Amino acid sequence: MNVVTPLTTTFGPAEAFLGKGHRLLIDGKWVEAESGEVFETLNPATEQVIATVALGGTADIDAAVAAARKAFDAGPWPRMMPAERQRILQKLGDLIEENCEELAWIESLDNGKPVKVAEVADIPLTADLFHYMAAQARTREGHVVPTSDFAIPGAEFHAYTVDEPVGVVGLITPWNYPLLIAAGWQMAGALAAGNTVVLKPSEVTPLSITRFGELALEAGVPPGVINIVQGYGADAGARLVEHPQVDKIGFTGSTRTGRGLLKAVADSNLKKVTLELGGKSPDIIFADADLDAAIAGVAMGVFFNQGECCCAGTRIYVEDKVYDQVVAGMIDEARKIRLGSGQDPDTDMGPLVSQNQFDTVMSYVDAGKSDGAKVAVGGARAGDKGYFVQPTLFTEVNPNMSIVREEIFGPVATIERFSDINDVVRRANDTDYGLGAGIWTTDARKTHHVAKAIRAGTVFVNCYNVFDAAMPFGGYKQSGWGRNRGRQAFEAFTETKAVYVKLN
Ligand code: ADP
Repeated sequence: MNVVTPLTTTFGPAEAFLGKGHRLLIDGKWVEAESGEVFETLNPATEQVIATVALGGTADIDAAVAAARKAFDAGPWPRMMPAERQRILQKLGDLIEENCEELAWIESLDNGKPVKVAEVADIPLTADLFHYMAAQARTREGHVVPTSDFAIPGAEFHAYTVDEPVGVVGLITPWNYPLLIAAGWQMAGALAAGNTVVLKPSEVTPLSITRFGELALEAGVPPGVINIVQGYGADAGARLVEHPQVDKIGFTGSTRTGRGLLKAVADSNLKKVTLELGGKSPDIIFADADLDAAIAGVAMGVFFNQGECCCAGTRIYVEDKVYDQVVAGMIDEARKIRLGSGQDPDTDMGPLVSQNQFDTVMSYVDAGKSDGAKVAVGGARAGDKGYFVQPTLFTEVNPNMSIVREEIFGPVATIERFSDINDVVRRANDTDYGLGAGIWTTDARKTHHVAKAIRAGTVFVNCYNVFDAAMPFGGYKQSGWGRNRGRQAFEAFTETKAVYVKLN
């Protein structure tokens, strides 16, 4: 089962791009890091170096913030007609679509995920977010508000609100959807609202966003509006967070890093913050569900993208009557998954992104075993090269085990049984997180009862991992602050000004 197919070493349509030097984008120009340093990025299937990239640090962040500040305070971007900003963002979305195959290969080689997944998910969803946010660029408006004369008796006011961009936005993003989260979920809304940005992408997957930077210049994004500084979190990332000239931080990453980031913001200029953090999402199968669809859907909710999804449905609850049947079906689903290089069209699941992530996931698998959980399927490394982990399911778990409580961020889930709807809701909510949840049932009353009772930012009913550009995404509880995507994300990159004009 889950044999790793022979590893591919071809770069396909990414070959020309990978062969180039990869630099930082500051003020519309590609530059080396001020220190002259570079870092290497690996193909996680072969563990071979595929490119070297300029390693930005605090000086490069300072230069990028200065460029973004100038572009915001004096440049055309926040001042241009909304229709013009819309046209440029629409074109950028078109260019992402036109270069889908190359971008999907770059993503696959750097992150490990299958090309065929990036081609239908990461890249088209990024393009769609640019198209969606391009349209939002025309809608930054305000309201005329009826007011009273309590402050100045007899006064008449023309009072109105107007939404304005926040200013210079610092974005810090992860490696699981390198392009989609950095460009689509974070940057598109910030740009549409008229902000300028400095992005510090994950050092684990620096490549696709660099190709995106080239496309942004080609689309006509003015200098200084998009700046991309590759570098490490503790260095370049920390400088961006504390920088006094940055007005807002948009962060997607771990709850641990998000917590530290808030402390640094509190000690600096109290910039605005949006956080999209970790999760430990429940996925609930009722006995009346279409079980074939539920088994396939729940398996996808766990194993999609190697399980490296912040809203992966990794706490599976199955109603008693169908428990044995669902566990058997889930084991079959896990066994069917073909592991291999993401560039091989037969591959369903690639390697984990890095040695670090592999070690983390395997340490949870070991903890599950030593805590007494039963490995129903998987539970080991696959192959002897690359960071491959077998799709893994645990049964006979209890709610105190780390595999039930903590985010693993790999292809590992637990299955528990339930018999009472209120009990399963209580257990589903027994978590510090609140990012996603799944419900599988054909009963409308159960659907609405559970959807209402679950404390999570997204509830999927008879589906999982649906990410529409127009729908907000974000967390309750320790899964985050604010929303990415949708109208809410656009508004999160605006400030509202209230204007009183006394008329008499
Ligand atoms: P992971 O450990 O899975 O990589 P992180 O939350 O640490 O998740 O990483 C998400 C992003 O946060 C990455 O771009 C990383 O470089 C950045 N980062 C990590 N530590 C810090 C920090 N102290 N300050 C700012 N950014 C950081």
